[in-house]
Amino acid sequence: MEILCSICCCNLVDPKQEIGLPFSSAGGNNNHQAYSSLCGHVFHKICLLKWQERSKNCPECRTVINGKEDIHKVYFNVNFKSDEESQQDVQEEKIQMHKRTETLTKYIKHITKELGHVELKFDKLKQEIARKDQEISDLKNLLNQERLCVPLRRVTLKTNKV
Ligand SMILES: [Zn+2]
Ligand SMILES: [Zn+2]
Repeated sequence: MEILCSICCCNLVDPKQEIGLPFSSAGGNNNHQAYSSLCGHVFHKICLLKWQERSKNCPECRTVINGKEDIHKVYFNVNFKSDEESQQDVQEEKIQMHKRTETLTKYIKHITKELGHVELKFDKLKQEIARKDQEISDLKNLLNQERLCVPLRRVTLKTNKV
């Protein structure tokens, strides 16, 4: 990763990289200290101090910077892993992802099978309900027929008495 100081256009966080301005030899390791202005823009300390000798504005956004009280040191938590180490990490991550994918695939298969069983049960229950519904409607029909028959019987009984 590169975070650039926009004054010298060089990397802010890699001490191995030279600062691209003539005054970079002055100040030793301190050259690579990162400083921020109030607006939040980040530069090399040395670049920002030199800039302030000429201008009272942030080189990025022109916000006014009033001397040293308006600038402060910032710290980056940088991971300086080599490409090889990073590649190993990526490889390890790939293996982990692959394992996880396998586990998830197995799980999906299992769930699909379960779902199949549940669907079968559901179908059977639906059929059962349909049968019960039919039984109920048959019984209702029977009951209606009975109701129709009762007055007729009464009529028949009365006629018999006479
Ligand atoms: Zn710089
Ligand atoms: Zn700024």
